[in-house]
Amino acid sequence: MWRAARRPPLQVGGSMDWIARTNQQLGERFGGRFTVRTEREHLVLEGESGDWQEIVNAGFLAAKAAKHKIAGCLVNDTKFTGKPPAPMRVPGFEDQALEGARPDVLVVGGGVVGCAIARELTRWKLDVLLAEKECDVALQTSSRNDGMVHPGLDLSKGKQKYWYNRRGNAAYDRVCDELQVPFAREGQYLCFPKKVPTALLYITKLYWNYLGVPNKVLGKKALFRILPNLHPDLGCGLYFPTAGCVCPYNLTIAYAENAIQNGAMVSLDTAVLGMEAEGDQIKAVRTNRGTIYPKVVVNAAGVFAEDIAKMAGDRFFSIHPRRGTNSILDKKAGPIVRYNASTLLTGHAKGAHTKGGGVIQTVHHNLLLGPDAVETPEKESFATARESISTVFDKQRKTSDKLHQGQIITYFAGVRAATFEEDFVIRRGLYTKNIVHAAGIQSPGLTAAPAIAEDIAKLVLEQIEAVPNGDFDPIRPAIVHAAELPEAERDALIASNPDYGVILCRCEQVSRGEILAALRRPLPCDSVDGVKRRVRVGMGRCQGGFCGPLVAQIIAKELGIPLEQVRKSGAGSEILLGATK
Ligand SMILES: Cc1cc2nc3c(=O)[nH]c(=O)nc-3n(C[C@H](O)[C@H](O)[C@H](O)COP(=O)(O)OP(=O)(O)OC[C@H]3O[C@@H](n4cnc5c(N)ncnc54)[C@H](O)[C@@H]3O)c2cc1C
Repeated sequence: MWRAARRPPLQVGGSMDWIARTNQQLGERFGGRFTVRTEREHLVLEGESGDWQEIVNAGFLAAKAAKHKIAGCLVNDTKFTGKPPAPMRVPGFEDQALEGARPDVLVVGGGVVGCAIARELTRWKLDVLLAEKECDVALQTSSRNDGMVHPGLDLSKGKQKYWYNRRGNAAYDRVCDELQVPFAREGQYLCFPKKVPTALLYITKLYWNYLGVPNKVLGKKALFRILPNLHPDLGCGLYFPTAGCVCPYNLTIAYAENAIQNGAMVSLDTAVLGMEAEGDQIKAVRTNRGTIYPKVVVNAAGVFAEDIAKMAGDRFFSIHPRRGTNSILDKKAGPIVRYNASTLLTGHAKGAHTKGGGVIQTVHHNLLLGPDAVETPEKESFATARESISTVFDKQRKTSDKLHQGQIITYFAGVRAATFEEDFVIRRGLYTKNIVHAAGIQSPGLTAAPAIAEDIAKLVLEQIEAVPNGDFDPIRPAIVHAAELPEAERDALIASNPDYGVILCRCEQVSRGEILAALRRPLPCDSVDGVKRRVRVGMGRCQGGFCGPLVAQIIAKELGIPLEQVRKSGAGSEILLGATK
């Protein structure tokens, strides 16, 4: 059974009062630099500032004032007078590969949400096309997150996020079983500093009981027995058994592969650049690979969801990008904190707009520390800043002081696609009828993805008649990781295919057989990073220093291309310039 988010009834009448009041508040707080007005069924924020954070704060104030009063959301039409953000990255070529295509459904975006939706749609006899502008799926937020399947600690019942997180979390065991993706539901420990009165623990416990998040109180002894390396300033804690961990890019790739297995087409290097709408209908979608004529468009474009909505004449929400930075520690540090743990107060600062992060034990037994939350006008800047890494590290050292920066092997940043309402937008278009939005999917979007996909498919099926796909196969066979097999099975595998006996990545124990398998999957993979995301070659301590060149050679041979053409990732990332001897 599924439950839709509760949407409180709109308060009709008196609109002038609240708009005037909001403008007064904006005037008082921001010196007259911003105003709001209603347009059709949404609210528009206007004005200008060279301070991006100020624009975001004005947006929050306006969105809060508009709560329950309009059908749409806040649209940010302010002018940012600081350094203009970079335009959307698009593939550097054009062809006609998709010219004239007439799919039933065009899904825009190959993140975890778009790929989960594409797979869900293949449960029906529908012609599904997924367009992803990057050279692979999961190259944006869906590979740049913490991989936590959240229990839902900081969500409120008034938000769609709460309900989707709840259903998504519950679906994870089944989904990961079907897609053969490693998933560990080992729970999450929230530790309380000794100086915090125990009464607070019981008060917060009541709150989580009310939210329906299973939990258990642990005294200091019990907590330290499970996590002996916790900071000595910590006392008792709460355990949340429904928390889990998944590899987010493995899951996204698996969703895409299973969608393809079941008949969907995934078109990489395909950017949606414009749309033609007539009345309230999208008639055509322009891409760098030709014009497509879908019956329904699904908007799963992450930080660019607002841009897609605008192309469709359905812009009634805005995205304000919020960057988060994470560090990954060497596997040797893994045993320091064996399970996901965080510390109250460091993790749940008021208004922080992050789940607070923590010390996360990944499914591959690295520790991941982070993230922070920094508002930015840049949607695709994945630059990592020293201050972010230090801030996150200092915060997480309150959970265990045995962690130190020398254990870091790599770091990364991801950008959350937040709306000013800080909630998901999962609905049919407000003004354009044949678009369905899965927008504003910030954290816990990874957790919620299975549930979002189910509901988006239902919304699509309200518009197109389709019969169930009797051939739908939910099982996606994974690439075998020889090192994890029992000895007898591994020996048998090597006997049948000696490539599995040649270890090329010593850090992660990845064989030549696995690399070749990654290059022969239903979803094309032709770059060093693509292989890395699929079989973890180069993910270890040496970060590909030893195995990277060997992987490049295998790619060149397998694809029949010169070594100089092998790319690290997308177009223009060729690794070698030419022969030196
Ligand atoms: C630092 C960080 C930590 C997080 N941690 C967690 C966590 O632990 N648990 C959790 O549940 N959630 C977490 N999240 C949130 C989660 O990662 C996201 O909610 C989720 O990945 C969103 O998926 P998506 O498919 O909507 O977006 P994306 O993965 O960004 O996918 C959107 C895709 O659309 C493509 N696209 C955009 N425009 C176009 C176009 N015009 N044409 C074609 N393609 C286009 C993009 O290239 C991109 O691949 C975290 C997020 C961040 C940033």
